[in-house]
Amino acid sequence: MHGNTFPLPPAGVIIPAGGTGSRFGHAQPKQFLELEGLPILVWTCQAFFALAAIRVVVVAAPADFLQHTTDLLHAHLPAQHAERLRITVGGATRQDSVRFSLLQLDPEIELVLVHDAARPLVDSATILRCLEGAACHGAVIAAVPVKDTLKRVDAGGAITATIDRTHLWRAQTPQAARRHLLERAFAEAERASFVGTDEASLLEAAGLPVRVVTGSECNGKITHPEDLRIAATLAAKEKTMKIGHGFDAHRLVVGRPLILGGVTIDHDLGLDGHSDADVVVHALVDALLGALGAGDIGRHFPDTDPQYKGIDSLLLLNQVCDLAKQQGFRLGNADMTIVCQRPKLAPHLAAMANNLARCCKVEPAAINIKATTTEKMGYTGRGEGIAAHAVVLLRSNHERE
Ligand code: MG
Repeated sequence: MHGNTFPLPPAGVIIPAGGTGSRFGHAQPKQFLELEGLPILVWTCQAFFALAAIRVVVVAAPADFLQHTTDLLHAHLPAQHAERLRITVGGATRQDSVRFSLLQLDPEIELVLVHDAARPLVDSATILRCLEGAACHGAVIAAVPVKDTLKRVDAGGAITATIDRTHLWRAQTPQAARRHLLERAFAEAERASFVGTDEASLLEAAGLPVRVVTGSECNGKITHPEDLRIAATLAAKEKTMKIGHGFDAHRLVVGRPLILGGVTIDHDLGLDGHSDADVVVHALVDALLGALGAGDIGRHFPDTDPQYKGIDSLLLLNQVCDLAKQQGFRLGNADMTIVCQRPKLAPHLAAMANNLARCCKVEPAAINIKATTTEKMGYTGRGEGIAAHAVVLLRSNHERE
């Protein structure tokens, strides 16, 4: 969250995501392509959800991809943002998509931003400059001064003029305006059958003043495959990682099933505990909580609480993965070691990894589980219990500022 210099009126953002991405040569629209492991559209939405001033994010999706867009955003965005998200069907043009989306805004929204779905690396400072600019001046757009010398070139490739770039800026998004001004500009455009390439051109055509605020060179639009490669380099720098360690041990007793990594293993002894005593899952849960700086398994799931008696520990793992997701993190990989003299665990390790991967919503290859004995030394070696160690790496979905 970013500190505001003054209270901003309630704001909403419209993200027209109706493009089919024909210049990209992919079967699917470019907003669904992955940037550092997350779809471009998810990056774009997260940039706005990160700011409290943005009350609502309206995504205008192509009709054919409405369900896909809905599934994708709900799968990747933390649950606490769900009530700020609206997904609507876009129009044939960007202008139609924005016009339809304006109708989706709640009455209390006073400032409206419009942002390209394919500008995933917009930063909070740029968004805030747009909000503050629109609150002060009515309508602004993010833009950057032209740095390169501009040439007019004829069809044969010959330069016919050098253009004075002194007053030239490249328009980006967000483009922000007081809601009533934007609605007026869209109504005027509709009346005059005017089609503009951005919202500013509609405001200009309606005779409404629009100013520029400083955008960012990192806020480029992904149009060509080359742009995606540049964005990936920039995005990788914004990510953060967290490491966590977990350890657990349980006593082997008669009359209990032996459950390790969610797999019930045929054995004459089982692990004792309040839950199903799945020592492998407990070590992983502790490692995840450790990485999040969120304490340990006992704090979240006390063994004095009857609701956890005999519980399938994979359910606890599910909850902890949800907690990570809410905090903007997902499991990168986990490495685990089970310390066990008997029984032999090698035949069960792949099934355990599959169970853990399913809960953590990662590929099984991201979970490595090893088993070792201690050559009959110590409590594990004497068969009194089984222990497990886990190390995890969490990756941020999106980290800004
Ligand atoms: Mg335990």
